[in-house]
Amino acid sequence: GLTGRLQNVFGKLRGKGKVSEDDVNEAMREVRLALLEADVNFKVVKEFIAKVKERAIGQEVMKSFTPGMVIIDIVNKELTELMGGTQSKLAKANRPPTVIMMAGLQGAGKTTTSGKLALMLQKGNHKPLLVAGDIYRPAAIKQLQVLGAQIGVPVFSLGDQTSPVEIARAGVAHAKENGHDYVIVDTAGRLHIDEALMEELKQIHEVTKPDEVLLVVDSMTGQEAVNVAKSFHEQLELTGVVLTKLDGDTRGGAALSVKAVTGCPIKFAATGEKIVPLEPFHPERMASRILGMGDMLSLIEKAQSNIDAEKAAEMERKMRTAEFTFEDFLEQMEQVRKLGPLDQIMEMLPGMNKAKGLKDLKVDEKQVGRVEAIVKSMTIAEKRKPEIINHSRRRRIAAGSGTNVAEVNRLIKQFEDMRKMMKQFSSMMGPKGPKGGMK
Ligand code: GDP
Ligand code: MG
Repeated sequence: GLTGRLQNVFGKLRGKGKVSEDDVNEAMREVRLALLEADVNFKVVKEFIAKVKERAIGQEVMKSFTPGMVIIDIVNKELTELMGGTQSKLAKANRPPTVIMMAGLQGAGKTTTSGKLALMLQKGNHKPLLVAGDIYRPAAIKQLQVLGAQIGVPVFSLGDQTSPVEIARAGVAHAKENGHDYVIVDTAGRLHIDEALMEELKQIHEVTKPDEVLLVVDSMTGQEAVNVAKSFHEQLELTGVVLTKLDGDTRGGAALSVKAVTGCPIKFAATGEKIVPLEPFHPERMASRILGMGDMLSLIEKAQSNIDAEKAAEMERKMRTAEFTFEDFLEQMEQVRKLGPLDQIMEMLPGMNKAKGLKDLKVDEKQVGRVEAIVKSMTIAEKRKPEIINHSRRRRIAAGSGTNVAEVNRLIKQFEDMRKMMKQFSSMMGPKGPKGGMK
C-alpha cells in the first residue's frame, strides 16, 4: 500500500548522512509513483511534488544532518495541508435546529453515516432527529428505523408515498416543535449522478435550508469518489465531505485528493458497518498514518482522557526523548493498564507493527503482576541505571521477586529494546517532532 511504499522511500533516505539533489529527485519520483498508484488525482500529485521539492530545496535539506527527516517532515506537512490543514468542525445553526442534509450516490454509506452522526451527537448530549428521505430504495425507511431504534434516536418518516421534499420539510418542522437541536436528513442516491436526483436534492435544499450539506463518498472508489464530489459540489454547494469505508483496503487516493479538487473540507471519516459514533477527520493524523508514523496523537489523546494530563504529557516527553527508567516503566505500566488491552496500545505506537523482535513486548496481562514484582525488587540505582544490573544483581532480583533469572533477563532485554526503539523513533521525529513540536 501507500504507507509501505512511502516508508521504503524514506527508509532509503534515512540511512544517509548526506543527500544529494539527485537523491531528493529520486525520492520525489518514488513518492510521485506511490501517490499515483494510490489513485491520487494526477494534477494534485504534480502540484504536491512541486511544492515539496521547492520546500526541500529552500530548506537546504542537503546541508541538514538529518536530511531524510527534514524531507519526511516536509512531506508530512504538505500532506496535512493537502487534506485541509486543520480539522473542520460541523456547522451549528444560530437558532436550532441545525439542519444537516446527507447526499451521495447509492451505497456510499449515507444511511449508515446518518446513524453514526446521530450517535455522535447524542453522545455529545444533543437531541438529534433522523429524517427518512429515501423513499425509492426498497426497505430504506426500515433500515433507518432499525438503526434509530438501535441507538435510541427517533426517526421521522411519512412512509414512501409522500415526496422526499415534503418529508424533509415536515421533518425539520417536527424537529423544531419537539425540541431537537439537530436534524439529519437522509436522502436517496442513484447509481450515477442524474438530473432527477440533483433536482430532488436541490428542492430538499431549498425547503430545509440546511446548515450543513454533507456529501458521503465511498473512499474505496478512489478517483471516482473525487469525480463524484466534484459534480455534486458544482450543483449543490456542499459544506463538507464524509469519507466512508476508510477501513478495508482503501488506497488513500480519495482522502488525498478530494479537498484539493473540490475545495470542500473532509469533515468526518467513517469505518466499519457497525454503528459507532462518527469520527471527526484529522488531516494531520491521516498524514501521519499514511506516512506510517502510527497514531501517536490518538494514543496521547486517549491517554489524556484516561490519565492525569500532566502525567500523560510527561510520559509522552519521556517516550520521545527515550530517557525513561525502570521507575517510569513501572508507573507507565500502571497508567497504561488503565487505557485498555496492552496489545491495542502497543499497536498504536509508531514503528510497533514493523519493528522486529518487539513482538515479545506484547506483555501478557497476567504477566504484568510478575513484571511489577521484578521491577519493585530493584534498588533505586538499578531502576535508574539498568546498565548496572549484572548477573549477581539479577539473581538477587529474581529471588526477591519470587521469579527466576530467565524472567528477569527477559524483562531487561525487553526494556532495552523498547528504549532503543524509542530512541530510533525520537531521532526520526527530530527534536521538535514532525509537526514542529507535538503537544
Ligand atoms: P446509502 O445507500 O448511501 O444509504 O448506503 P448505506 O448506508 O445503506 O451503506 C451501504 C453499504 O455500505 C452497507 O452495507 C453498509 O453497511 C456499508 N457501509 C457504510 N459505511 C461503511 C463504512 O464506513 N465501512 C464499511 N466497511 N462499510 C460501510
Ligand atoms: Mg440509504
